[in-house]
Amino acid sequence: MNADCIPFNKPYMTGRELLHIAQAHADGHLSGDGVFTKKCHAWLETYTGAHKALLTHSCTAALEMSAILADIQPGDEVIMPSYTFVSTANAFTLRGGVPVFVDIRPDTLCIDETLIEAAITSRTRVIVPVHYAGVACEMDVIMDIAGRYNLLVIEDAAQGIMSDYKGKPLGSIGHMGAYSFHETKNIISGEGGALLINDERFAERAEIIREKGTNRGQFFRGQVDKYTWVDIGSSYLPGEVIAAFLWAQMEEAQDITQRRIHIWQRYHEALATLECAGKLRRPVIPEGCEHNAHMYYVLLESLDKRTEVINQLKSRGVNSVFHYVPLHSAPAGKMFGRTSGELPHTANLSDRLLRLPLWVGLDEAQDLVISELQNALA
Ligand SMILES: *Cc1c(COP(=O)(O)O)cnc(C)c1O
Repeated sequence: MNADCIPFNKPYMTGRELLHIAQAHADGHLSGDGVFTKKCHAWLETYTGAHKALLTHSCTAALEMSAILADIQPGDEVIMPSYTFVSTANAFTLRGGVPVFVDIRPDTLCIDETLIEAAITSRTRVIVPVHYAGVACEMDVIMDIAGRYNLLVIEDAAQGIMSDYKGKPLGSIGHMGAYSFHETKNIISGEGGALLINDERFAERAEIIREKGTNRGQFFRGQVDKYTWVDIGSSYLPGEVIAAFLWAQMEEAQDITQRRIHIWQRYHEALATLECAGKLRRPVIPEGCEHNAHMYYVLLESLDKRTEVINQLKSRGVNSVFHYVPLHSAPAGKMFGRTSGELPHTANLSDRLLRLPLWVGLDEAQDLVISELQNALA
């Protein structure tokens, strides 16, 4: 990569991260659940309306906690899209759960809600909607199915912070929701995540699981007089240095989102002509969905075309990427999961999807990305 390359991602920092980290350092509280963690929890609870928010080391860790809270037993089935990141499935596989992969909608690339009911068996326990690119799954339908079959809904909202579905923040609609603050996401702390507990039945146990299976939280609140091992658990809480960094990002979350939306809109307008000419398809945002501009992707005509475009862009100094290898076709997906029905859209769209650079500060470089893409598709 040469020095003038336009990177695919560049973590944005507000400038206040080090200030807050210096404060944590001065306070001398470096383990978890100090002042900055509490600020982040309060912010998340206010913004989402969740009963309880808990910072974790990653979205992966939040999903692992949710699988324990859902009491997944070996052989229990968890319905999810195949077109998603590994952790969506792995968190449940770790408990002996069986991912059951269903196809995605061709418009949003989110789980096709009309295929969920056919995937339900007597072993089904959970549905995991993944809000791809920060655009909501059809949550009304999914919550209705879950209610009728007595299933839990755990939202993989890794990409969904600051997005809404019919006015409700993503992550706050299911029984639980998981956010990621990985540096490739919108609001970041390097590695980081949060679990939202929307159904208060899970709140007490969530605290215990996050604190190595102890009732430490209750002890510090004076609710119990000794602190001991009461359940399974692990160490899922980040230290205060991470929380201090994250707090700087949360303070500017609105502004960061607006700046991303501005860049997203610019791509969307500039690429309309290529869509009319049949050269690509742009993202679709259904009515009722307010998205957070997590990602700008285009769908090209074929895998060969995508490979050609990536190489051409690269030769012109523009880094573009694709994802995911569908989980049902990955080695571990075949070993630990199964499919429900055919997955034609998953197979087809994952071959044709191309992600363009989208980061706060892209500014004029975006013109180059657009013109190089136009050249590559001319
Ligand atoms: C990024 C991502 C994750 C994992 O997030 P980490 O914080 O890196 O663990 C899980 N699911 C989806 C859909 C993601 O995009």
